[in-house]
Amino acid sequence: MTPLELARQTLMQLSKTQSPPTPDNYRLVYNEIAGLEAEDNGTMLSKALDKVLNDLGKDKPKYSAAAQKISTFVKKRDSANLENQIRSLLPISAGDDDSVNWSTLLRYLLKQLDLNHNGITLSRKKEGLSRVLINFASDPNQLGQKIQALATSWGDGQAVMIVNDAAEPVSAEAEQSVAQESAPEKRTMHMVDEDTQLRVAMAWRDLLIRTISLVVLPQFADIPVAISRIEALIAQAQKSNTIEEVSDVSESLKSALLRAEMQTDSQHRMQDALVQMMRLLVSSMSELTLEDKWLHGQIAIVQEIISEPLNLDSVYSAESSLKELIFKQSSLKPGLIAAKETLKGMMSTFVSGLADITESTGTYQIKIAEYQKQISETEDMTQLNDILKSLSGDIHTMNADAQQSQSAFTDTQKKVEEAERKINELTTKLDYISEVAHEDFLTGALNRRGLDEAIEREFERADRHSTALSLAMIDIDHFKKINDTMGHSTGDVALAHLAKVVKSILRSTDVLARYGGEEFVILLPGSKQEDAVNVITGVQRDLTKNFFMHNSERVLITFSAGVSERMPGEGIDAVLPRADAALYLAKQSGRNRVVGAEPSI
Ligand code: GH3
Ligand code: MG
Ligand code: MG
Repeated sequence: MTPLELARQTLMQLSKTQSPPTPDNYRLVYNEIAGLEAEDNGTMLSKALDKVLNDLGKDKPKYSAAAQKISTFVKKRDSANLENQIRSLLPISAGDDDSVNWSTLLRYLLKQLDLNHNGITLSRKKEGLSRVLINFASDPNQLGQKIQALATSWGDGQAVMIVNDAAEPVSAEAEQSVAQESAPEKRTMHMVDEDTQLRVAMAWRDLLIRTISLVVLPQFADIPVAISRIEALIAQAQKSNTIEEVSDVSESLKSALLRAEMQTDSQHRMQDALVQMMRLLVSSMSELTLEDKWLHGQIAIVQEIISEPLNLDSVYSAESSLKELIFKQSSLKPGLIAAKETLKGMMSTFVSGLADITESTGTYQIKIAEYQKQISETEDMTQLNDILKSLSGDIHTMNADAQQSQSAFTDTQKKVEEAERKINELTTKLDYISEVAHEDFLTGALNRRGLDEAIEREFERADRHSTALSLAMIDIDHFKKINDTMGHSTGDVALAHLAKVVKSILRSTDVLARYGGEEFVILLPGSKQEDAVNVITGVQRDLTKNFFMHNSERVLITFSAGVSERMPGEGIDAVLPRADAALYLAKQSGRNRVVGAEPSI
């Protein structure tokens, strides 16, 4: 058919179907008659683009605007601008190489979820996934990469980089083959994972070694063979790099722990036996000192302390009470004994003098002999006094010959009474001191009783004024050695020296107390932990300048300290253990240092 004939047929068809003779209708019918495709590709593409952009434009007007521009450029046949406009609509930018192939990634993820990975449960996988979803929800590219990394971290050798991977692996085998291609970036990802695992394993090993050194080793402090065995175990643990070596360590550790348990058991048994012995000792002490009321009181205190289940606190209390007891007994006893002896001597001399005078009067002689016997036999002050009184009564009724002796006797009696009064005064004073004493007799620091009161007072004050308060616990380093090499009494002087130096540095509001043995507690009202650490470090520094002198030689005393700050409302039960733990660390890390406590949780 000629084009003319085609045009004629087209017009006839249009009038037959009564379609409006628009250019579009004309082209449609013309193409149909000519047997051409209904639409050329360009028109179809343009229409489709126009439709898509206008649809998108309902939500985002920029697409409608783009559709308009495109149709303008088409009309103007401005191909350069048309291309740019289309390019700007497509999400192709510099960083787009990392775009995620979601279908492959999701298939991989599902498979990794399904697979049974050593030690990683499904719920742990889900937990990890949900964390990634929450954290990277706003950035699809990053989200894809994180999911990829997560799923890979579950697996062992199946690290597949699916990012921007055009050839989608459709089966497990295909995935495996991708993994085996080992592109450099795929391998890096896998290696980072191994590296982390290695670091975690090393950290665990270090932890284990520290635990053995700090917990297991000290249990065998007195058994050299056991110590060398544990040290060998630590060396073994440090070197073990293979599963076999680790299982060897595990075996040796098991037997070491078993021995440690047995050791602890025997220590407990020994402790019980010692306590029993101490109880026995104290009760026999009480029987030996029947006549001394003051000692009885003190012994009762010690007995009461050790009758309760023992803890470190009660042992310290018992120790310091015993020390007070021994000290006071030793200082009081010689004075009392001397006084009694003087009294008895005086009375005997007088009575024998009296016997000479009253030689003639037989009745009195017998009586006097009886008095002499009584005086020599008694040890009791009250009895002596009674003897004195009845003697005095008898003498009043004596004849004039005894007049001279009478006045001498009264004189002596006065002296005796004076001596007795002094003794009573001394005893009462000591009794009183033992009841209310707040100071440690050796160092002049507060004793436990004084410390308890200071704690109550200062803690209450800190709460009332909302001020800081820190507590330091100090323990002299290797004090046993000082005692062993220079003697116990020099050790005592060293303690007093330390207390003097500490006091000279502390503020007047700070409190120094002897906690027991060679341990002291210092309360630092108003000081935060850091300041308190500085103060105690200052004391340490001062001790290196203020030497303790023994036999004209300088002796350096050092101590370790733990410092903790009290949190508002906290009791001593919370603050002291923190300081004690820090002190333990100070000792462990080499002594002669001050360690601040970990903050309370
Ligand atoms: P460390 O550095 O581990 O503290 O060693 P250390 O020798 O000081 O050990 P520890 O604290 O266990 O021993 C304290 C010693 O102090 C034991 C005891 O003989 C002695 N001690 C306790 N109280 C007194 C005391 O009042 N006077 C004297 N001279 N020594 C005391
Ligand atoms: Mg100690
Ligand atoms: Mg010590």
